[in-house]
Amino acid sequence: MKKPELLAPAGDLTKLKAAIDYGADAVYIGGKNFSLRVASENFSHDFMAEGIKYAHDRGKKVYVALNIIAHNTDFDGLKEYIDELVELKADGVIVADLGITDFIRTYAPDLHIHVSTQASVTNFATVDFYKKLGATRVVLARELSMDEIREITKRVPDIEIECFVHGAMCISYSGRCLLSNYMTGRDSNMGDCAQSCRWKYHLMEEKRPGEYLPVYEDDRGTFIFNSKDICMIEHIDKLIEAGVTTFKIEGRVKSEYYVATVVKAYRDAIDAYFEGKPFNPAHLEELKKISHRGYTTGFYFGKPAPNAQVYTSNSYIRNYELIGTVTSYNKETKIVEVEQKNRFFKGDEIEILLPGKDFITLTITSMWDEDGNEIDVAPHPTRKVTFPCETEVPEGSFVRKVKLL
Ligand code: SF4
Repeated sequence: MKKPELLAPAGDLTKLKAAIDYGADAVYIGGKNFSLRVASENFSHDFMAEGIKYAHDRGKKVYVALNIIAHNTDFDGLKEYIDELVELKADGVIVADLGITDFIRTYAPDLHIHVSTQASVTNFATVDFYKKLGATRVVLARELSMDEIREITKRVPDIEIECFVHGAMCISYSGRCLLSNYMTGRDSNMGDCAQSCRWKYHLMEEKRPGEYLPVYEDDRGTFIFNSKDICMIEHIDKLIEAGVTTFKIEGRVKSEYYVATVVKAYRDAIDAYFEGKPFNPAHLEELKKISHRGYTTGFYFGKPAPNAQVYTSNSYIRNYELIGTVTSYNKETKIVEVEQKNRFFKGDEIEILLPGKDFITLTITSMWDEDGNEIDVAPHPTRKVTFPCETEVPEGSFVRKVKLL
């Protein structure tokens, strides 16, 4: 049985490097144009070149999202952009629009085409149709059950099947939601979703303006559309057996720490599965340490139950906070230098997340500021702080601690 590809989001170059360092087989990125996710930084030509080189040097792949629902004017400059992707040796493009698909087949017939989840592919016939069109991979809609996926992979062999295993869910079919467009003018199909589904809603009878009636039992209103995040780490065996060839992690606007943590947890879980080991609950515990909305298995095991949504709040669960990133380590003095992000104190118990290894735990027994003064608290984000650490930790490792409520 072939190991599935672990595919991670990379909103910018730092996230791309974090995803690869922490174990992703491939990343997906967006250029400055033609890609959803307006909120992420996205990649200029030079950053894309650097990112693709970084990945290829390590035997990893880079796919470029080109998944807008295109209007006529979107074809202006498209040929030049595709030429650029070919020249940069992108490993594939993620496409939602049939016109763009045809355009790529015409002008870059060797460029691999992945059909985006924005195309809402939910059945074998559509997968087969895209295969005949020349697509090498289809990213299935998130609304399919494991049984449906299994049937698709059986009926349409010889095409890669990618499924989301982790991250935010849309309450509507991805690519078919106009809630944000209607309520804010921000187009979710152009990557600018305002996440209107997460807002707090009441019911109002038209003759009683201003009287907000609760829709659910909670008298503060309800977040009726607010789905929990998908998390399939406990079920990777079933996904593999169903024929899924790529495990996709959602979140190009998420932080590099988030990407590194999720990638590492799935990397470890996939590798353990192929070593014949039983599922280790520690991998799920890792995923609970990052900011999330609670977890669900979405549609994989049938229609989501009512508890797959969060009705009481739209805020994230944050059990741990990132307090800094390692900038250097002195092997002789065994002192680590960290660029601070959030406040921490002498005496804090911290964890350092390392690429390719288990995290380490230590207590900060003493620490110093940039001028060498001993300090009890590190209060200034972006300042450098040093403290003793017996274990050698590479630059870029993430430092976290339990978040105090
Ligand atoms: S409003 Fe919600 S359901 Fe609609 S596209 Fe945005 S995130 Fe998805």
